Amino acid sequence: MNYSNAIEHPAFKTIAWVAKDMGTECYVIGGFVRDFLLKRGTPKDIDIVAVGSGIALAKGVAAALEGNPKVSVFKNFGTAMIRTEEVELEFVGARKESYHFDSRKPVVEDGSLEDDQNRRDFTINALAISLNEDSYGELIDPFNGQEDLEKKIIRTPMDPDLTYSDDPLRMLRAIRFASQLNFRIEKESFEAIKRNRKRLKIISKERIVDELNKILLSPRPSVGFALLYKTGLLKMIMPELTNLSGIEEKEGQRHKDNFWHTLEVVDNISVNTDNLWLRWAALLHDIGKAPTKRFDKKIGWTFHGHEFVGSKMVPKLFRRLRLPLNEKMKFVQEMVLLSSRPIVLAQDIVTDSAVRRLIFDAGDNIEDLMTLCEADITTKNPRRYKKYHNNFKIVREKIKEVEERDHVRNFQPPIDGQEIMEFFDLKPSKEIGIIKDAIKEAILEGEIPNEYEAAKAFMIKKGTKLGLIKKEKKQ
Ligand code: ATP
Repeated sequence: MNYSNAIEHPAFKTIAWVAKDMGTECYVIGGFVRDFLLKRGTPKDIDIVAVGSGIALAKGVAAALEGNPKVSVFKNFGTAMIRTEEVELEFVGARKESYHFDSRKPVVEDGSLEDDQNRRDFTINALAISLNEDSYGELIDPFNGQEDLEKKIIRTPMDPDLTYSDDPLRMLRAIRFASQLNFRIEKESFEAIKRNRKRLKIISKERIVDELNKILLSPRPSVGFALLYKTGLLKMIMPELTNLSGIEEKEGQRHKDNFWHTLEVVDNISVNTDNLWLRWAALLHDIGKAPTKRFDKKIGWTFHGHEFVGSKMVPKLFRRLRLPLNEKMKFVQEMVLLSSRPIVLAQDIVTDSAVRRLIFDAGDNIEDLMTLCEADITTKNPRRYKKYHNNFKIVREKIKEVEERDHVRNFQPPIDGQEIMEFFDLKPSKEIGIIKDAIKEAILEGEIPNEYEAAKAFMIKKGTKLGLIKKEKKQ
């Protein structure tokens, strides 16, 4: 079968004739071919392998392309890249690789197409299509990658133990592809990952996180996280999560398995959001449950304060994994801290003041918080499932109504500390804080409207009670 329909992009024609002119064999290889056969949308990266110098071919191609785009050369890697408006073309010379035990950076020498396919991580990533005149469009598939695509299998071309030990990043790549494509990791490979898991220590945190993020952004992240768990990799990367697994029973009382529950929540939220950080929040929302778990004879299992403890664990985890320590982390932390608030609300009668407080505490993140909490409903009891969702609908409506009326999102009380000081003729002191808080509380509780005049009258009343009012000041 001929696959010239895979290489209809005009860039391929240019590459083919430049390569012919230079007398260089070349092929399109890897993700592009895989995704074409999977009919997986328009690709952004095209990897070209040249039997010879990839850099020289890239320079020749750039000179022939319209507008003479710039070539970025990575001499150390023997690769070159051309970025056009629609695609990135990556060029590499075919190579043979050998590895040292303490590094995932191979010793490289020039090789044939076959050598180059042998060094690829998975059979489905080793597929190549010829760009040479005599075999244009021919698929070169030495490891039955096409069959593995049909059977939805991740398999290594070479001995899996060697493949994973040589470059342990491939363990995470296998799991990431399984999660992105909803594929199975073939048994030998799976066992080899388990055996080689300790090799992960030579991989940088940045690369680990890069793969974790891709797993989290896949359609059903639980596929990847379940594999990370079963291979023993997750325990090495995020023990905070694996500590949640297991069900304990005491005096006939059991709690749910919070690890599998968490994965369900992540899958649920992924239906409704592509926001990576909200997905991280879902993944971490219960991490405080392991350190706070207690058994009480009267009330059974409790996880008191797990949201607070969990939110304190977030920065430590982010720092360890070299995740960003900026507003993204603060967002995840806040989501974890507030993660039970709407649920508590939805279980009871939804009062205006409780909703006002929630809007005040969550600010602009209120919508994301509601999305998280809805995803957190994993009950298998259809009656309860329906009830909780209905209650959340009420909470959402109430939020809209209260917000339109009271404007408490990101609200600043209408009277600030400066004005309190001036009015009572005070220096900075404890009383100012007390009055400020009392005004905020009165507004959130709905005792007074969120307006200047009402707040001023309330301030005077409060100041009088505190004995701050001089007679002549009363108005
Ligand atoms: P995606 O772009 O979706 O991540 P991809 O397959 O294009 O998929 P890249 O990381 O861009 O992924 O890699 C391009 C190709 O290089 C792969 O298809 C594979 O053939 C090869 N490759 C990448 N990383 C490795 C590795 N660690 N070991 C062996 N081969 C690899």
